Amino acid sequence: MYDYVIIGAGIIGTTIARELSKYPLKVLVLEKENDIANQQTTANSAIIHSGHDPKPGTLKARLCVRGNALYHVLEKELSIPLLRTGAFVVAHNENEEELLHQLQERAKINGVPQTSLLSGDDARKIEPNLTKNATMVLSLPTTMVTYPWGVAIAALENAIVNGVHFRKNSEVISIRKSHDVFQLTLKSGDLIESKHVISAAGVFSDDVASMIEQNVAYTIHPRKGEYYVLDRKAKHLFSHVLYPLPTEKGKGVLIVPQVHGNILLGPTSTLVQSKDIASTTPGGMAQIKEDLKRLSDGMPYELIIRSFAGIRASSSYDDFYIQESKEIKGFYHVAGIDSPGLTAAPAIAEYLIHEVIQLDMNPKPDFNPIREKHIAFYSRSLEDRKRLIKKDPRYGNIICKCEKITEAEIVEAIHGPAGNDTIKGIKKRARAGGGLCQGGYCESLVLKIIARETGKPLNQINYYAENTPILVQETKVKK
Ligand SMILES: Cc1cc2nc3c(=O)[nH]c(=O)nc-3n(C[C@H](O)[C@H](O)[C@H](O)COP(=O)(O)OP(=O)(O)OC[C@H]3O[C@@H](n4cnc5c(N)ncnc54)[C@H](O)[C@@H]3O)c2cc1C
Repeated sequence: MYDYVIIGAGIIGTTIARELSKYPLKVLVLEKENDIANQQTTANSAIIHSGHDPKPGTLKARLCVRGNALYHVLEKELSIPLLRTGAFVVAHNENEEELLHQLQERAKINGVPQTSLLSGDDARKIEPNLTKNATMVLSLPTTMVTYPWGVAIAALENAIVNGVHFRKNSEVISIRKSHDVFQLTLKSGDLIESKHVISAAGVFSDDVASMIEQNVAYTIHPRKGEYYVLDRKAKHLFSHVLYPLPTEKGKGVLIVPQVHGNILLGPTSTLVQSKDIASTTPGGMAQIKEDLKRLSDGMPYELIIRSFAGIRASSSYDDFYIQESKEIKGFYHVAGIDSPGLTAAPAIAEYLIHEVIQLDMNPKPDFNPIREKHIAFYSRSLEDRKRLIKKDPRYGNIICKCEKITEAEIVEAIHGPAGNDTIKGIKKRARAGGGLCQGGYCESLVLKIIARETGKPLNQINYYAENTPILVQETKVKK
């Protein structure tokens, strides 16, 4: 019997799991996919927003500003990358300048520090590729960028080291409560018992809630966002996150420098029917190019290395919905977590546990907040690299030539506390396949390493989700 079962291992479920792991509790995270962070948390803009945009007085405003501050703590404790870019919101004429003044007021009310207004000319001295048509920008120095799924993986790794249990490929298909005990049935048929349930199921939050409630207080309206990714050769072009003025559809199409040097362009914002078909469209791709004209006068589209899409868990409730069920005591909703959910995640975990659940117990004396830093071989000094190769010759075998990722790093990604044995899982952890050739060279090598390390046949190694093998059958058999 668990004290808490968390449904969903996105950034919300994993940061809640880590917060609960500070206490003497039996906690289980259930994830329907075969990896952590396979949905919203893997396909977003990666921005740790300052908190300039949410409506004052909302949970989004409060938890965004608090979350932004908490990322500095996570950076130290979990060894996650944070790029301190700052951001400019761009105006093009007097009307928009007036809106920029209002946005600065909103930011101040929300508690965003250090905001200022710069003329277009002054902004271009800092950001030379900002459009010539920009007349004024709102500067938001506390805006940062991170590696979103890396944060979720780090949080869950640390939670696991501190005693949390994790089950992937574990879709919850029904929830009942009898005699103060929740019974969760998994698709596999397994039955899990828990005293409390926390639903952090992203776009599926309303479906999960309707397994136990008669009247769910919100519905999820999935909203797709599409992106282009530019190669690292574009790194020198932009140093700040560039936003247009926000509209009712969201923060608009942005230019976002990424922690590994790529530049992200997007996202669009389109209501869609399907919650899990995150494919790009010709219309979405054209929209990005059109909208970017408001931020820069020419983009190097020849440097695009890939495109992708994510689905936001926008809801009918006009804020994050973080509450105990009004019908079923002990069932907690963490729902409608669209943007700025990545930013707010550590603050959401804190808010849920200390203000909603009001957990009344002393932390474990042996809680270890530190997650061991993964070795990024190529970022080390020459001396360090020589020492590492001497200790483990697999550091001398470069598997991903674009990102310079070694065999030792791939093996670590497979066997880490929250390791994974899919091609995409290795890409998320070690970045093998994240460079210019997008895995064209190294995927077959990664496949063989996974097969060797797990003892599985090559045709049972999945690319991503369950039943997505790259190799289906042997076509030539050596006699
Ligand atoms: C296009 C886009 C851009 C964004 N940009 C930003 C940004 O720049 N900054 C920012 O702060 N926020 C941003 N966001 C928002 C942010 O990504 C989300 O708020 C955050 O990732 C939500 O995390 P989550 O854990 O709630 O959801 P998810 O990551 O979707 O995780 C939910 C998990 O629950 C699992 N699950 C669902 N149903 C079940 C079930 N029945 N049983 C077991 N498991 C289940 C799912 O498989 C999934 O893994 C963006 C979102 C999108 C889509």
